[in-house]
Amino acid sequence: MTKIKANNPTLKSWVEVARTSDFPIQNLPFGIFKTRYLSPVAGVAIGNYVLDLVYLHEHGYLDGLSLPAGMFHQQYLNDFFALGRAKVREVRERISELLRHNNDELKDHKADRELALIPMNEVQMQLPVKIPNYTDFYSSEEHATNVGSMFRDPKNALLPNWKHLPVAYHGRASSIVVSGTNLHRPKGQIKPIDSDQPIYGPSRKLDFELEMAFITCKETKLGHPIHIHEAEEYIVGFVLFNDWSARDIQQWEYVPLGPFLGKNFGSSISPWVVTLDALEPFRVQGPEQYPHVLPYLVTEGAKNFDIVLEASMKAEQGEDAIVCRTNFKYMYWNIHQQLAHHTVNGCNIQVGDIYASGTISGPSPGSFGSLLELTWNGQKTLHLADGSERTFILDGDSITLRGHASKDGVRIGFGECTGKILPALK
Ligand code: CA
Repeated sequence: MTKIKANNPTLKSWVEVARTSDFPIQNLPFGIFKTRYLSPVAGVAIGNYVLDLVYLHEHGYLDGLSLPAGMFHQQYLNDFFALGRAKVREVRERISELLRHNNDELKDHKADRELALIPMNEVQMQLPVKIPNYTDFYSSEEHATNVGSMFRDPKNALLPNWKHLPVAYHGRASSIVVSGTNLHRPKGQIKPIDSDQPIYGPSRKLDFELEMAFITCKETKLGHPIHIHEAEEYIVGFVLFNDWSARDIQQWEYVPLGPFLGKNFGSSISPWVVTLDALEPFRVQGPEQYPHVLPYLVTEGAKNFDIVLEASMKAEQGEDAIVCRTNFKYMYWNIHQQLAHHTVNGCNIQVGDIYASGTISGPSPGSFGSLLELTWNGQKTLHLADGSERTFILDGDSITLRGHASKDGVRIGFGECTGKILPALK
């Protein structure tokens, strides 16, 4: 891969960026934002600011990149991402140049600088992409083992196919919402343990799932698989993903076709798309795969990413308390394998598709990525900051996911993926 100048850890920006910020000059993630005065437009995060790409484009700062007119004045990033990874990289490199401490093009143009940089607390982030399709994998061995142990048999927790293919199901794209969107507690059919018959009502076992998701930037034709060595051409970047789950609805409905109403009432994503380019320095080797995978799933080298993840929970009037710390590097199946497997039968993919990892659990109990595992299906209780106890999510509770990679003094973060649970609608 060509060297990405924007990733140089020694770069400094003339925009002030706190050491703990998720958005240093080495990150430059893309998103869609709205202010009180503007319709949705594309922007880049830098420190506590959003850089307005429409303004930069219209005022000549992106000349020479051959970008189509109006490219950033859109509700979604799909058309921009569809220009391909190389073009997205060029734009990121140019923005990196403009923001460098020793570049005065924008820095010394007071009027432009003040109009192009908008304080983050003045913007409202939107869904970054229009999502045609959403697939949810199940690629963490620890998570699959925990769930299999609870719901089936601890001695045979993994089903026989699990180490041969990245298991997944097709989720619901229409109910994916951006961070900050509150969701009502879902209602549905539940079969209590002491009852012969199902009942209808609000879920009593509402949960979160801590996941990452990648977004595609290139479509394929129906019938044409993506070869595993080409997979990265199709992936523009990542967001955090909370796959809210109603465990009681899920447990009653899931046999034999898998998740349905226990999952499709809502999933939340973080608003900033952190590019695969920005994550390049954080690649690590994945777990050893045994038994050996079939040839179409064989990858070599560092295909996982060292991204520290956490989930926190906050009661309505309480304080935020971390309930889980895990890492994306634990994933058994990597993103290349997921995409190659997804398309090996000729299934076509589209620009803006979301491919979620599945709950990311680590080896220790504090690293489990769902309440189902953290409380072992309600058998243990969690203590929140305000002293209250939880097994599952109560009305008024908020869940926030955070994640970042760090190395050589650079911290590439994802911002927040947050959502509050409101009471079930009557
Ligand atoms: Ca999931």
